[in-house]
Amino acid sequence: MRKILIVGNWKMHLNTSQASLLVHRLQERVPIHRDIEVVLAPTMLTLQPLSLQIDRRKFRLAAQNAYWRDEGPFTGEVSFTMLRDLVHYVIVGHSERRHIFEESLETVRDKTAAAIRNEITPILCVGETKVERDEGETKQVLHDQLMSALSNLTSAEVADIVIAYEPVWAISDGTNFKEHIMAKPDQVADAVRYIRSYVTDVFGERAGKDVRILYGGSTVPEIVSGFLDVPGVDGFLVGGASLNYHLFSEIIAAANRWQRQGNEED
Ligand code: PEP
Repeated sequence: MRKILIVGNWKMHLNTSQASLLVHRLQERVPIHRDIEVVLAPTMLTLQPLSLQIDRRKFRLAAQNAYWRDEGPFTGEVSFTMLRDLVHYVIVGHSERRHIFEESLETVRDKTAAAIRNEITPILCVGETKVERDEGETKQVLHDQLMSALSNLTSAEVADIVIAYEPVWAISDGTNFKEHIMAKPDQVADAVRYIRSYVTDVFGERAGKDVRILYGGSTVPEIVSGFLDVPGVDGFLVGGASLNYHLFSEIIAAANRWQRQGNEED
């Protein structure tokens, strides 16, 4: 059965004790699911203590960012090398980093390669802005982001990564996700089909089939089953709702119900 992947991006929220409390609450509510992988992406500060606290049968950890050089005179940065035994995943190219911190296509490419070099799975975020969608440039944007980020990788490496389709206009600020505009399933279907076909054309059938693709943008429990019905969607990158233990555990429970209703592939 194809596993569902659900990643909670806590963005720049929660100090050490708040993060520990959220994990405590989640561990009470989320059962062990064989076919759902749940990943928590807290701030860099709390990764180490949470690595000692999490029940590894329920959760894995991701970093929200890292620097692509392994070590050196880069004040304020943390490298993928330093994270390699701490996290399974690192989010790379999140739109907040591309837009607020001006990360270029080349930087995202170097970070993707650095993750793989350090045996960490990148969660590569791609997606168009509202203006780009309105101008009909969505596929061109996805093409350019994918071509650049994946350019130094082999087919086997691409088969193992995670790509998150996050239309920038659908991403909340972490608090307004309930009333924020969301992508429609047919828009997600188009984008995910395009991403898979790009990977298949460039890296072959196996990579196109195996690469995991998530949807991200104001995810709430109510949309889980409708978006899992979209062909090629393997799960969610959740921002705002992942900071609320009730909503995040409901998202996981909704995915579990969807699987048990016999909707899973394979
Ligand atoms: C995100 O931070 O990647 C995200 C999708 O946030 P939200 O779910 O709040 O839109």
